[in-house]
Amino acid sequence: MNVTVKDKEFEIYLSAEEINQRNSQLGQAITQDFAEQELVVLGILNGSFVFMADLCRHIALPLTATFIKISSYAGTESTGKVRSVLGLEEKIEGKNVLIVEDIVDTGISMNHLLKTLSAFNPAKLSIVTLLHKPEAFQFNYALDYVGFEIPNKFVVGYGLDYDGLGRNLPGIYQLSTP
Ligand code: 5GP
Ligand code: MG
Ligand code: MG
Repeated sequence: MNVTVKDKEFEIYLSAEEINQRNSQLGQAITQDFAEQELVVLGILNGSFVFMADLCRHIALPLTATFIKISSYAGTESTGKVRSVLGLEEKIEGKNVLIVEDIVDTGISMNHLLKTLSAFNPAKLSIVTLLHKPEAFQFNYALDYVGFEIPNKFVVGYGLDYDGLGRNLPGIYQLSTP
């Protein structure tokens, strides 16, 4: 099944059902690993808002949910520049923080975020990302929980946008190669 977002064609890559199944597995793993400890779940806007909402409901722990904003993309390519982190109002010192990302591509954004958040001395800083492009990744820090490793192709849907559009697609779609 193909969809058009703005001026580009995309093909279905992961269905809503596949994503939901994986979210359930990720939630179970996180629940077990943190064994009744409290968690600050920190979603990275805008892309993670759909994943965050679904994943949270698969985590059976006492948690607070909050969002911060960071962005490095323009169109379908990374600008490589990370803008500042906005909205970190929740106190994270001494707390278990789980960063929730839609996708880790080059890893530049997450690297910046890890540095910024570490300075606040959380007890533990973990990462969950729904998608990861290993071929594009430029770092060697650990991604604790990865939903799906995907090829180095642009994707939209399930929170991810193409120039602001497509976030409301229930599945994840990959840019069609002409
Ligand atoms: P990175 O800094 O790891 O290169 O990219 C991080 C951000 O770029 C992600 O959080 C996401 O917002 C955006 N991004 C990276 N790859 C894709 C992609 O394939 N599709 C979309 N829509 N956004 C992407
Ligand atoms: Mg993101
Ligand atoms: Mg984007």
